[in-house]
Amino acid sequence: MTLNLLEFDLDGLAAFCEQLGEKRFRAVQLFRWIHQRGARDFAAMTDLARSLREKLPTHAHITGLPVLSRQDSSDGTIKWLFDVGDGNAVETVFIPEDDRGTLCISSQAGCAVGCRFCSTGHQGFSRNLTTGEIVAQLWQAEFFLRQHLVKAERVISNVVMMGMGEPLQNYNALVPALKVMLDDHAYGLSRRRVTVSTSGVVPMMDRLAQDCPVALAVSLHAPNDALRDSLVPLNRKYPLTELLDACLRYLPAAPRDFITFEYCMLDGVNDQLEHARELLKLLRSHRERGVPCKINLIPFNPFPDSGLICSPRPVVQQFARLLSEGGLITTVRKTRGDDIDAACGQLAGDVLDRTRVVSRMAQRRAATVHPIRFVPAAGEKQT
Ligand code: SAH
Ligand code: SF4
Repeated sequence: MTLNLLEFDLDGLAAFCEQLGEKRFRAVQLFRWIHQRGARDFAAMTDLARSLREKLPTHAHITGLPVLSRQDSSDGTIKWLFDVGDGNAVETVFIPEDDRGTLCISSQAGCAVGCRFCSTGHQGFSRNLTTGEIVAQLWQAEFFLRQHLVKAERVISNVVMMGMGEPLQNYNALVPALKVMLDDHAYGLSRRRVTVSTSGVVPMMDRLAQDCPVALAVSLHAPNDALRDSLVPLNRKYPLTELLDACLRYLPAAPRDFITFEYCMLDGVNDQLEHARELLKLLRSHRERGVPCKINLIPFNPFPDSGLICSPRPVVQQFARLLSEGGLITTVRKTRGDDIDAACGQLAGDVLDRTRVVSRMAQRRAATVHPIRFVPAAGEKQT
C-alpha cells in the first residue's frame, strides 16, 4: 500500500524520504510542490531528481477527499461536503471577508461531546479524521479557490478548527496538521491566524501550549457549572474553575495575549442579564486577577429538532452591552452562509454514530430534570 503524503508534516515527510535514501532537502522540495503549488503528480515536479520522481509512485500518492457536494452562498461563503468513507462525510466552509479569507475545518466525523445546541453533537460520533484528512480540507479548498476565484494568489489567510468535531479529542492527528498550516514551506499561516476551538479538554489545552501554541477559542456558553453541565456535557469532567485555570496556563505560550470565549445565545436559557452579570464576575475575578479575554457572542443557529431558539436580537445586544460596560471586549458574530446552512453548529455532514452517543443523549435527557427552558415559538430571523 502506498502512503498519502498529505498525512505528513515536514518532519514526517523528511523521515519518509530518509527511508527512501533521500536527504531532508528533497522533503522540503516535495512539501513545497504539494502545499504551495497543489501538485499531485510526481512527474510534474521538475526540480526533483529523475530517479526520485520515478521511485515515488511506487511508495506514495497525493490524494484529496472525494467531494460529495459544493454549495455557494450568495454572500460568497462556500461549503464542501467531503466523503471520508464508510458512509461518513464532513463539512468545510470558506468565509471570504474584505481583509481575509477564513477556512473552517472539521476534525472528526461527528463529535462525542454532544452539546445540546450543536447539530454535529446531535449526530453522534463516528471516528477521528486523520492528519491527511484534516490537511486535505485546506489543500483542496486553497487550490480550488486559487483556480476559480482569484488568479494564482493566496486565498486562505485564516484557519479555524470550528467545523465538525472536538479538535482536542483528536490531538495526535491535529498537531501535525497544525504544523503543516504553519510551516513556511507549506501554507505559512501565522499562529495568530490559526485558531483551535475547544469545548474545554483541559489536559490537551496544556499539551497544545507545549507542542504547538496557536490562538485558542474556548466554548463557554454558561457562567456557572450547573448550566454548563446541561449544555456542554464535558463540563462535568472539567468544570469551570479547572477550565479557566487551564486558560491562564495557556496564555504565556499563546500567540495572542487573550483567550476568545465563545458564547452561543439561547433564548431563555443562558441569555438573561443575570447570566451576563455572573459571566462578568466569573471572568473578571477568577483567581483574583481575572482571565484576559474577548467574548464572542454567537447567535444560536437553529437546526431541526434542537428544541432551542436564538435569543432575540435586542437581547443579544443588551447582553453584549452589559459585558462591554463591565470591561470585557465583546463582539457579536455575524452569521454567514445562511442560505446554505453553513453557519456555526449547523454542520451536520453525514455520520454513522458508532458510539451510540445519540441514544445516550436521549436517555440522559429523559433521566434528568433539564434546566433548559424550551420555547416553542419561532426564533427571530438571523442577521
Ligand atoms: N468542538 C469545538 C469546535 C467546533 S464547534 C467547540 O465546541 O468549540 C465551533 C463553535 O460553534 C463552538 O463555539 C460551538 O459552541 C458553536 N456552535 C455549535 N453549535 C452551534 C449552533 N447551533 N449555533 C451557534 N453556534 C454553535
Ligand atoms: Fe462537539 Fe463542539 Fe458541537 Fe460540542 S459544539 S458537540 S464540542 S462540535
